[in-house]
Amino acid sequence: MDSISNVSARKYVDVYFELAEIYLKTGLKEKAMESLQKGLRLESWNYKYQLLLAKLEIDAQLYLKAYERLHFINRFCEDREYCRMADKLLKKPEFKIYMKQDPPPSLPGYKLYIIQFEGAQPIFIDAVASRIFQVFGIEVEVLNERLKPDTRKIRNNREHFYDLVIRNYQIRFGMHEYDELLRKTNIPRSKAENFKSKETLVKALCMQEPNGGELWNYIQATIRDQYDAEVLLKQIQQSFKKKLDLHGTIGLLGITADDIYFDDYNYLFGSGEPRLGVISHARFYDNETSLDTAIKRTVMQAFSTTGFIIGIPRCTSPTCARAYAHSLAEHDRKEDQICRECRDNLRERYRELSITNEEDD
Ligand SMILES: [Zn+2]
Repeated sequence: MDSISNVSARKYVDVYFELAEIYLKTGLKEKAMESLQKGLRLESWNYKYQLLLAKLEIDAQLYLKAYERLHFINRFCEDREYCRMADKLLKKPEFKIYMKQDPPPSLPGYKLYIIQFEGAQPIFIDAVASRIFQVFGIEVEVLNERLKPDTRKIRNNREHFYDLVIRNYQIRFGMHEYDELLRKTNIPRSKAENFKSKETLVKALCMQEPNGGELWNYIQATIRDQYDAEVLLKQIQQSFKKKLDLHGTIGLLGITADDIYFDDYNYLFGSGEPRLGVISHARFYDNETSLDTAIKRTVMQAFSTTGFIIGIPRCTSPTCARAYAHSLAEHDRKEDQICRECRDNLRERYRELSITNEEDD
């Protein structure tokens, strides 16, 4: 997964869309919709397929979803033909009720900046940026500068693990054997306490096992250092203070590939406060996770944290992307959409912000 680039993701996209066309030709509408959703998660700017999915949703009486999709096309698509078609569909009587009760939230003139930490995957960043734009109705800009995460208060889980292995070895085999091991791995006694030396030593011990390579890879994949979310928020705030002070900045959202924690929590998917947030995609994929699922998880977390950045409370709808998840399994039960309650809260908050803005002017 680490090697997935935008290029290979684009190849995936075409497969999903082509598959959808084939399903449609054979009358498998539900399968076609599923495939379109997967494709559009990777490439939400594809208006042709957004329109196709909206039509299928209307047929399936999923009016709210179709309504949001058509509105998205109407607002952002520059191709007149697609806009005209979306407009025509929006005039259907089924949509009248939504038009009045639930206009999509939008706050023109406001911008969310996305801050990339080193190692954050471009494909997740692109998906997060376009979906926030689509669902929250605010402009989103991804800043090019990449932050190296601040290591203050880091949980050195790997070093702790290495220490444990080495101490066990010393107790079981004695210091003489330990010195022998240092000699074999070319580590001088004076450097035995360095992180790199410990890593070399533990790797050498692993390699003595029958499936040593596999074991070592497993350790590397499962034992990760964890960064303090509060420290990262501070770092974002200090590094991009100028952006934060700009008129019309709604906040900064950091994205990291490293695992994060706070206080007594074992780990966090994300952390947000007014104007500042950070999310981590570290726990959203492994070798068994499809790219589509990993993106959905990351986008849902971004929606949740962005809500806190903008200043709306958590909601009560269990399937909303912003509902609190105790585990990844619970996170997966949610949808990558925000609920009616969240949209109501957003519109209310946007109204407050526009009023303050006018007063400032
Ligand atoms: Zn909600």
